[in-house]
Amino acid sequence: MYLNFYREERKLYERAFETELCGDDTRFVGRKIIKHFKIDCYWINVVSVRNGHAYSHAISLPRRTDFGMLCHELAHVWEKQKYGKTEHRKRLMKLIGRIVRYCEKKNYWKAELDKRHQPKPPKPKPTKQEIREKKIEKTMEKIKRYERKIKMYSTKLKKAKRSLMMLERYKNGTMEKADEK
Ligand SMILES: [Zn+2]
Repeated sequence: MYLNFYREERKLYERAFETELCGDDTRFVGRKIIKHFKIDCYWINVVSVRNGHAYSHAISLPRRTDFGMLCHELAHVWEKQKYGKTEHRKRLMKLIGRIVRYCEKKNYWKAELDKRHQPKPPKPKPTKQEIREKKIEKTMEKIKRYERKIKMYSTKLKKAKRSLMMLERYKNGTMEKADEK
């Protein structure tokens, strides 16, 4: 029965099963689907497994997968959330269909994924002037930090001196005199 189900979904949603996904892209797309349908799935594990798997609030997928498998596993979580259990039956197929149609509508996030794959332009090398300004900025921060420390320690020092004075007065029996003033 499972095999029939898999065969049927592959036939119905051919494009989804032929559109590959991998690693971080799987999570990226998964999060979009989860958010759109408000699916209670908190975790998308991308691991070294051959097949996808659904848990109550998480799914596992192979590192190299496709939209079809992602939709299938998310549909399991969704069905469980909506109806209390999930089986490879018509109802699951309908939910997979809804998720796949959403992917179709978004054109499988092709534009976003292409953009993610583009290498980031290298940062331009800072000019000497910029390096100097950065150094000045850092040194000023350091000075401020040291000044704050000096302030803190001089307060501590004052307090310690004051309590030493009091203690010594007390020791020498001059406490009363000091009080009389
Ligand atoms: Zn399944």
